[in-house]
Amino acid sequence: MITLKEALQLSKDELSEFKKDLKEKIKEQKQIGAYVEQLIDSDISEYGSGVPIAVKDNIQVKGWDVTCSSKILQGYKAPYNATVIEKMVDSGLSAFGRCNMDEFAMGSSTETSYYGKTLNPVDNTKVPGGSSGGSAAAVGAGLAIAALGSDTGGSIRQPAAFCGCVGMKPTYGKVSRYGLSAFSSSLDQIGPITQNVEDSAILYDILAGHDKKDSTSVDMVHQRVSESLDGDRKLTIAVIENYIVEAGDEVQKEIKNSIKALEDAGHKIIYKNMINSKYDVATYYILATAEASANLSRYDGVRYGNRADVSSLKDMYFKTRGDGFGDEVKRRILLGTFVLSSGYYDAYYIKAQKARHLIKEQFDAIFEEADLIFTPVTPTPAFDFDSKKDPLEMYLSDIYTIAVNLVGLPAISIPIGKSSDGLPIGGQFIAKAFDEKTMFDGALSLEKIIDYKREI
Ligand code: GLN
Repeated sequence: MITLKEALQLSKDELSEFKKDLKEKIKEQKQIGAYVEQLIDSDISEYGSGVPIAVKDNIQVKGWDVTCSSKILQGYKAPYNATVIEKMVDSGLSAFGRCNMDEFAMGSSTETSYYGKTLNPVDNTKVPGGSSGGSAAAVGAGLAIAALGSDTGGSIRQPAAFCGCVGMKPTYGKVSRYGLSAFSSSLDQIGPITQNVEDSAILYDILAGHDKKDSTSVDMVHQRVSESLDGDRKLTIAVIENYIVEAGDEVQKEIKNSIKALEDAGHKIIYKNMINSKYDVATYYILATAEASANLSRYDGVRYGNRADVSSLKDMYFKTRGDGFGDEVKRRILLGTFVLSSGYYDAYYIKAQKARHLIKEQFDAIFEEADLIFTPVTPTPAFDFDSKKDPLEMYLSDIYTIAVNLVGLPAISIPIGKSSDGLPIGGQFIAKAFDEKTMFDGALSLEKIIDYKREI
């Protein structure tokens, strides 16, 4: 598959030829189920006429269905473009295909989609990760040059790691959330999934920037990074020892190899510890569910998508929501409503906000000494379908990614090796807020040394 950088150089004719071939290829690889269109037997949608970029099914593209891969939003058409779509079209890109995802971006395996599952392109018996599993599978399978995902607790970085791609979550506020269906508003960010670090920086430059339509968008001029990437810069990189010990053996091995490679390349490695990641998980699942319970209250049958056919208003609310949401979404709404209820607000919600502050202080302290933090992305490579029956077990696949969202930092996941079964393993660089430049420089430096080969 050509890179985004190469695709941006194609002539109009070459580009339309490329898109024709791409559609064919997507059809041939239907079994992957990366695109919602494949799962419902319809044609790949396109908006704009530029370089095709796949879009997660929770980002609005005017006139397209946008369903968050949920039953409740079947039939709902986006009335306007998300800011990121406007920016893409202005920069010579087009929205091309709707990518499958976990329902309302809640999950780590894309198994909760109303449309059915997406397969991991490297090993079809494994999950592609989630919630942006369709986006990562599309890029990993060579069915997209690049894709947009959203990351609330790791949903760009984790599936990118499982599918052997590069996934990047920008600093909170750097990329507009206008037109992204809200899951947990204080954590959500849109970001790129690409084949390499340079493409990630190119797409990030296109997406980033202040947007008056998003009140949490940071009012600062975006300093472009993609033209000045420097993989030879020498950096101080902190590795989190207790995180590495918690990972599975194969992940530990690859992480240790990468640390050695970074050291050999002239970076200074320092060793640090962080509080047990179980506190990150607890904090995240209180705050994210609290916000989700409020955000998803708008899906009541009155304004969006499906409406149950019943005679009273109360029955309409009950039945629309009861039939329309899947089990995981219901679990989160119940949990979120519980932690916000007056009797438990102090015990859970307020406490979680305090824990969030504590987590931030740890990052601040490490960044006093380090330019970057390097960690695993996931404890294990991609797992089997239906293997995580207990929701808590599923939640633990995010132990290395969610703290980054709680603190609003930028982070990138890149492939650093493979398991003995050939499954991709990822490494994550975390940078200071608004220092995407250093994050990309560090990632580029390791990418050059590792020279990961995608076999598809
Ligand atoms: N897997 C996490 C969850 O289920 C993160 C999801 C996300 O980043 N959207 O909430």
